[in-house]
Amino acid sequence: MNLHEFQARELFSRYGIPFVAGEVAETPAAVRAIAERLAGPVVVKAQVHSGGRGKAGGVKVARDPADAAAHAARILALTIQGLPVRKVLVVPAVDIASECYLGMIVDRAAQRPVVIASAAGGMDIEEVAKSTPERIERIAVDPRYGLLPHQATALAFKLYQDLAHVRAAAEIARQLYAAFYGLGASLAEINPLATTKDGKLVALDAKLVVDDNELPAHPEIAALRDTTAEAPSEQRARDAGLSFIQLKGSVGCCVNGAGLAMATMDLVKFYGGEPANFLDIGGSSNPQKVVAALEIITADPGVRAILFNIFGGITRCDDVANGIVEATSRLSLKVPIVIRLTGTNEAAGVEILTKAGFSALTEMDQAVERAVALARK
Ligand code: GDP
Ligand code: MN
Repeated sequence: MNLHEFQARELFSRYGIPFVAGEVAETPAAVRAIAERLAGPVVVKAQVHSGGRGKAGGVKVARDPADAAAHAARILALTIQGLPVRKVLVVPAVDIASECYLGMIVDRAAQRPVVIASAAGGMDIEEVAKSTPERIERIAVDPRYGLLPHQATALAFKLYQDLAHVRAAAEIARQLYAAFYGLGASLAEINPLATTKDGKLVALDAKLVVDDNELPAHPEIAALRDTTAEAPSEQRARDAGLSFIQLKGSVGCCVNGAGLAMATMDLVKFYGGEPANFLDIGGSSNPQKVVAALEIITADPGVRAILFNIFGGITRCDDVANGIVEATSRLSLKVPIVIRLTGTNEAAGVEILTKAGFSALTEMDQAVERAVALARK
């Protein structure tokens, strides 16, 4: 689950991480009032579940309340990476001397939390990671002990020369690790971690993704979910009980089982295509789920072909076939659909689909290759 910057700031603050306090608003008039209260230059920041807000024009420094209101009007009209901006955060502007990056993720290869840091923080961190990876420091943390003081200090020495800065950064790294662990995060990030002209360290941005599996143990975080800020497709999928992740390709995938869904995406890539999504309709054969899945996939304008890949186990191929027939009779499909069914009640499934005018394949390779070719047309 993604959190907004203003929510992440609040949660990180509880662990001692230094932020400048701000307020959230939804209208330019409210932004003006906050800027008047804060008295002095402010930064107006789009609150969307997306990085790169700065580059998209979603972060602006304003010299006075009128300027802040004007920036807010423009930012509230923006759509950043497909997400409309509904809220902005207003914070006192900080005089930045330097920007570092400090982040934590769960590294599946290392099977550990990994702390990532760079002296080259700020808006170009992705570019730094790509073109000068030697400027990115990484430390794997043993979760039994957490981020130890000597590790945090060694890391901080890679970012700062000034001893006071090193001490402060080591402390912040330990606080961020505590937050990461305590909040059940899969990602926790401060970028930039800024030094100010008067020699202090302050976190100017906060990004937090909480592992969905941790939410039952953290009901107060689960309650922070802002469904209005999520992609409509992901909301729709959650409501329908589907595991869905939007991607950028052209082959819409509808698969039963997460493992098969991943294998299908691999095979789409193998045949030179790009999956438009990950979608696992789960183990049941409820035709409603198939209808919801097709609605979500067809709402994506990038989809040029739809690929069903169903392995009938508990899921019965005839049920899925009925779902497909029902769904396609309700929705008018504008893109070709390729169906592969195998396993329980395969023959019955193929018969239902053939009668309805679909061709059903039983070989996965053949189906994927065909879907990729159709998506290219
Ligand atoms: P992101 O682009 O989504 O990561 O948004 P950030 O919150 O990181 O803001 C982008 C950039 O705006 C930062 O890297 C800073 O350079 C700049 N910025 C953010 N807050 C301030 C501030 O208080 N003062 C100044 N001068 N710049 C800021
Ligand atoms: Mn940032």
